[in-house]
Amino acid sequence: MSGAEGPFRIAVAGGSIGGLCAGLALRGAGFDVQVYERVAGPMETRGAGIVVQGELIDLLRTHGAGALPTTRCRVRRYLSPEGGDGEVQRAPQDFASWEAIYRTLAAAFPADRYHRGAALTDFDNGEGVVQAHIDGHGVVEGDVLVAADGAQSPTRRRFLPELSATYAGYIAWRGTLDEAGAPPDLVRFFDDAFTFSEARSAGHILVYFIPGDGADTTPATPYPGRSRRAPAPRLASVRRYAGLGHP
Ligand SMILES: Cc1cc2nc3c(=O)[nH]c(=O)nc-3n(C[C@H](O)[C@H](O)[C@H](O)COP(=O)(O)OP(=O)(O)OC[C@H]3O[C@@H](n4cnc5c(N)ncnc54)[C@H](O)[C@@H]3O)c2cc1C
Repeated sequence: MSGAEGPFRIAVAGGSIGGLCAGLALRGAGFDVQVYERVAGPMETRGAGIVVQGELIDLLRTHGAGALPTTRCRVRRYLSPEGGDGEVQRAPQDFASWEAIYRTLAAAFPADRYHRGAALTDFDNGEGVVQAHIDGHGVVEGDVLVAADGAQSPTRRRFLPELSATYAGYIAWRGTLDEAGAPPDLVRFFDDAFTFSEARSAGHILVYFIPGDGADTTPATPYPGRSRRAPAPRLASVRRYAGLGHP
């Protein structure tokens, strides 16, 4: 897409999942896109597992990205606090991690358009242009500035100062366990399943496998009969209390 003097120039502030998704989609639509990420060195991985949604796979495919490292399961298992092996339903699901998604997106986006150590410090709306003040780049002029600077976005706060975080009604604990250090029986029990358990506290617990460090999906504990569709070096356990959110 073009303006009178060439393609629209879009600056994206924030180079995590949101910024890279926006960058890929906007570049694919023909815009001249630059992504500015404030972190100077390698990005630190964050969070535990991310359940893979179809929209992400579509975006990656549409823009020629490589395969997303994922773990997979074929069933959902529902446990109860009373014990037992629970109920099993067929429900295939793919899981990734922040690192697996970030790496895949970053590899699909041109490196010379992804700027590290480049924090957006200010911006001005001019006559038909936006001027973004970017560390190390001075004042960058563009047609559009996309703020992908995270849940606590200072850019959004500037436009919508009245918005503030409110308690969603639940608290989540998330943790991961390296499969290499887990008892084999535990690995075997949770293998190939997205496991849910009601908790006596009225919340619930989720357990599933995700790619390990470096988005590695090589099983740490292969054994005869282990699902080949579920390479799984890391167990992600998520507990929620007093409310439900997206998995
Ligand atoms: C344990 C866990 C599990 C999750 N599970 C799911 C799930 O199942 N499904 C799901 O959809 N989501 C899930 N999420 C949420 C998911 O991780 C986030 O939605 C995702 O990281 C948000 O990406 P983002 O790019 O919007 O923001 P962030 O990842 O927060 O990135 C914001 C980026 O902007 C940069 N930045 C900030 N300020 C500036 C500035 N001034 N200039 C330039 N750069 C700036 C930051 O350095 C950062 O890299 C989960 C999160 C966690 C922690």
